[in-house]
Amino acid sequence: MSQGKQSKGKCAYCGQEIAKNAVAKHLGVCAQRQEAIAKAEGKKGEAEALYHLRIQAVGLNQFWLDLEMRGSATLKDLDSYLRAIWLECCGHLSKFSLGGWQGNEIPKNRSADEIFEPGVELTHIYDFGTSSFTLIKMIGTRKGKPTGSWPIALMARNLMPEYECIKCKQPAIWLCIECLIEENIWGTLCDEHAETHPHDNYGEPIKVVNSPRLGLCGYTGPAEPPY
Ligand SMILES: [Zn+2]
Ligand SMILES: [Zn+2]
Ligand SMILES: [Zn+2]
Ligand SMILES: [Zn+2]
Repeated sequence: MSQGKQSKGKCAYCGQEIAKNAVAKHLGVCAQRQEAIAKAEGKKGEAEALYHLRIQAVGLNQFWLDLEMRGSATLKDLDSYLRAIWLECCGHLSKFSLGGWQGNEIPKNRSADEIFEPGVELTHIYDFGTSSFTLIKMIGTRKGKPTGSWPIALMARNLMPEYECIKCKQPAIWLCIECLIEENIWGTLCDEHAETHPHDNYGEPIKVVNSPRLGLCGYTGPAEPPY
């Protein structure tokens, strides 16, 4: 996997590419976001606390999301969101905990208002066998009307990591599961070398997707935001 470079992402409001460590700053000045906020404020409905959350895949720094979650939304909503955009393969169990993954479990019916305050960091685990670990950190809050009708809004997301073909170093869009499981190699392949790759014990190579669960259990994507 490509490591070492500062990960880049994209603002969901204006489409601009932003460095991972500059997301909060950009969101604060993004004209399209300010417009979306002003439009929401002009609508009927109650203002509520809105939480800016940084979602980070543990051990895979290039996978991250910045979400805005309504105070009234629950961890169930957040769990569904993470499953849709990153995690869901076979309907495994999941849990949230406070104080590391062995810490106290937080019931999924808790709302963001009941949990988040400055410095709070939750761990989310999806699948207690081949686990995916995710950190959820509150990095800001504002009072206002949500910019959309859903419990959670996507504000920014990492760009698809760039992989290179293990044979020719050209950009790769396929991953061989047999390389991964049998040889412990991150076997990414270009179109041409995916065609001629000799491994098929785990099926054809799968298409790479923008998710930290790629290559785990039976995960194949789609890694799309649910809304
Ligand atoms: Zn923007
Ligand atoms: Zn699975
Ligand atoms: Zn190749
Ligand atoms: Zn292979």
